Amino acid sequence: MMIRIAHIYSDMLNLYGDRGNILALKRRMELRGIEVTVDSITMGKSFNSDDYDILFVGGGQDFEQDVLLNDLKQGKDKEIQKAVENGKVMLAICGGYQMLGKYYKTHDGKMLEYMGIIDFYTEGVEERMIGNYAFKTAEGIEIVGFENHSGKTYLGKNVKPLGTVIKGYGNNGEDSTEGVRYKNTFGTYSHGPILPKNSKFADLLISLALKNKYGDVELIKLDDELELKAQKQVMELYF
Ligand code: GLN
Repeated sequence: MMIRIAHIYSDMLNLYGDRGNILALKRRMELRGIEVTVDSITMGKSFNSDDYDILFVGGGQDFEQDVLLNDLKQGKDKEIQKAVENGKVMLAICGGYQMLGKYYKTHDGKMLEYMGIIDFYTEGVEERMIGNYAFKTAEGIEIVGFENHSGKTYLGKNVKPLGTVIKGYGNNGEDSTEGVRYKNTFGTYSHGPILPKNSKFADLLISLALKNKYGDVELIKLDDELELKAQKQVMELYF
């Protein structure tokens, strides 16, 4: 089996170790004998999302989000939309997550029109939402992460969040929602990076990608003792 990952804006959007998500996916698949390729899709490089099984985009500062906007609209937006609608697996973190929505208005009033693939919008506020936080997904997976954003995200009324906040801010610090889940696309504010510390969530993404390509595949169980210990420790330390 083989899984091809597209790492979108790998050089521009990579805060707080977001690249660790790629490393975790790759390692967890390779340990199971699944071949993995990773391509960096940077500014100026076009791509066809049909060539990939998993799309990943990390977070960034307002500055980088603004700089790449023009490039996003040169075709990457269409490819990302096609992938999302076709049920490809996509993980988008923080600034990358905001790009899936309609717009991000920065705290100092700059309007960044985004892809509007999913019905939500983000508006920046002066005071940043920073800290270790935790949430629980609809599947009951508890996730620990780190958030640092000025944007408050509000989901449209038919849009499902990725989870419910246990501790911290999540989407906006007001309605207890965190992230978004649409088809096999997952948006979250969780840096840290999210996947190494949350192995069940990493395996959910891997299972969905394999299912798209090969039908139901039972994942070989890995020894997650250290990952689970790290997660438990974070839970106990902060919550
Ligand atoms: N620039 C965005 C915000 O401040 C996203 C930040 C991030 O990716 N950490 O809301």
